[in-house]
Amino acid sequence: MTITNENETPKKNLNFIEQMVENDLKEGLNGGRIQTRFPPEPNGHLHIGHVKAICIDFGIAEKYNGICNLRFDDTNPVKEDVEYVDSIKSDIQWLGFHWENLYYASDYFQQLYDLAIFFIKEGKAYVDEQSAETIAQQKGTPTTPGTESPFRNRPISESLDLFERMNKGDFADGSMVLRAKIDMAHSNMHFRDPIIYRIITTHPHHRTGTKWKVYPMYDFAHGQSDYFEGVTHSLCTLEFEVHRPLYDWFIDQFVEEGAYRPKQREFNRLNITYTVMSKRKLLQLVEEGLVNGWDDPRMPTVCGLRRRGYTATSIRNFIDSIGYTKVEGMIDVSLLEHAIREDLKPKADRVCAIFDPIKLIITNYPENATEILITENNPENEKSGTREMPFGRELYIERSDFMEDAPKNFFRLTPNGREVRLKSAYIVQCTGFKKDADGNVTEVYCTYDPTTKSGTEGGNKKVKSTINWVNIHSCIDAEVRLYDRLFSVEDPLASEKDFHELINPESLKILQGCKVEASLKDAKPLSNFQFLKIGYFTVDEESTKDHLIFNRTVSLKDTWAKKTE
Ligand code: ATP
Ligand code: MG
Repeated sequence: MTITNENETPKKNLNFIEQMVENDLKEGLNGGRIQTRFPPEPNGHLHIGHVKAICIDFGIAEKYNGICNLRFDDTNPVKEDVEYVDSIKSDIQWLGFHWENLYYASDYFQQLYDLAIFFIKEGKAYVDEQSAETIAQQKGTPTTPGTESPFRNRPISESLDLFERMNKGDFADGSMVLRAKIDMAHSNMHFRDPIIYRIITTHPHHRTGTKWKVYPMYDFAHGQSDYFEGVTHSLCTLEFEVHRPLYDWFIDQFVEEGAYRPKQREFNRLNITYTVMSKRKLLQLVEEGLVNGWDDPRMPTVCGLRRRGYTATSIRNFIDSIGYTKVEGMIDVSLLEHAIREDLKPKADRVCAIFDPIKLIITNYPENATEILITENNPENEKSGTREMPFGRELYIERSDFMEDAPKNFFRLTPNGREVRLKSAYIVQCTGFKKDADGNVTEVYCTYDPTTKSGTEGGNKKVKSTINWVNIHSCIDAEVRLYDRLFSVEDPLASEKDFHELINPESLKILQGCKVEASLKDAKPLSNFQFLKIGYFTVDEESTKDHLIFNRTVSLKDTWAKKTE
């Protein structure tokens, strides 16, 4: 255990990225300048994996007095859209981060095009008229060299002319590409004459319209964009480690040795159990209607988690707890669920909600009388205050809190004379019940003891159980959406079964006609509550005064731990 003095926060061990940065600062790299960037491609909404990248990109800049920019790597107009640009920006802000500058890779289209021309003139790039499939077939394997294109040694002037005409719109999409001329036998497959430019005329670019007919490939744009911006530490996930030498090679062709260049370092991706973390798969879930949009509360997207009731703090605490390493792995979703419970424990007011209501009539309570009782908002937070609960003769309680023939260890309502406390109210004893023709219990009767009111001396009387209630006349109807894990297996992508069969059929259950206490009438969308004894819930974004909707964020305890044991 680390012992710290009271005024000091315990010093966490530095992760390997922080260690590297501190080392670079010590050695005076780039004159001690720190600049990072978060480089999303605007082809989908952010997911919690991206948050891991966001936290380190912005976190490093913040911690070491540097700056972090937001740069959209918008090099593929076929898949990109302004809708995504806007949502990415607002998600980053919601998470509590601020970028210094907003950039787009498309800001560099001219610079990148000029570089491509330079590469051609230097004999380091050529126009290949083969199809993408043929080029792929000629790549070879890691152990066998690739085959050189018949166009590889065409005259520089020919490539120059063709490339310029590619950009004028003289040729059809897919009819030719520009390739870097490196080495078809290179041990790193990415060096085998990678495609660096392609023709796209089918989709206008969301920023540059139809100005360009050729677009740089991600690999040709990403590293150079970092360079143009002066990024000192280019942080990304491990799958880019094998691309790093290529990014360096591109820069080596036009920058002197020893001069400034970005330093790319890679960390492990975030993968979480019972979900998938790839925009492609998430898009599939949305497009096939397997979920209700990108912000479906079962999605691992930032907008989905927010709608589910996750707070920015809980997500950032979760990311902080898992850390950054060089080893790929899978994080148990229960850690994320733990983070939101911990965050909401002192923050969320605790209220009564009845999901399967049954009438409770207190036969010795005066008819038409109402009494205002006071209850604590949150016993774990002294500052949370109290609120009023109107009490009366007719209440709703949870059907499962009553049993006609109860076993000995059932401590709630049953006609055996046992005393039960109504939350923040009185002690009652069940005296009988009524059934309908089908044998379903429709009403439960009880008497109350007026000397046992909570908050008075008689309120200290101990009984075995306390049950929740709402007043029949003041409670409000609500729809409750019980969300659970989206998939029924830990790693859906590793399963042999079809993706569709793995969706948890119980991932969404909708309950209508739930009764919640009157204090929730004005609850704002996205505010969090604990429904006593049930779990944490949040008001849905589409909830209105006339149609209250609550989403289950998480149950009070991890119910899956048992299931999977
Ligand atoms: P996906 O693989 O989910 O489709 P992506 O990598 O294509 O996402 P980008 O928009 O290119 O998405 O990613 C922006 C940044 O976020 C990159 O630096 C990338 O390394 C990082 N990132 C993406 N997914 C994860 C993840 N699961 N964990 C950590 N960082 C991630
Ligand atoms: Mg990717």
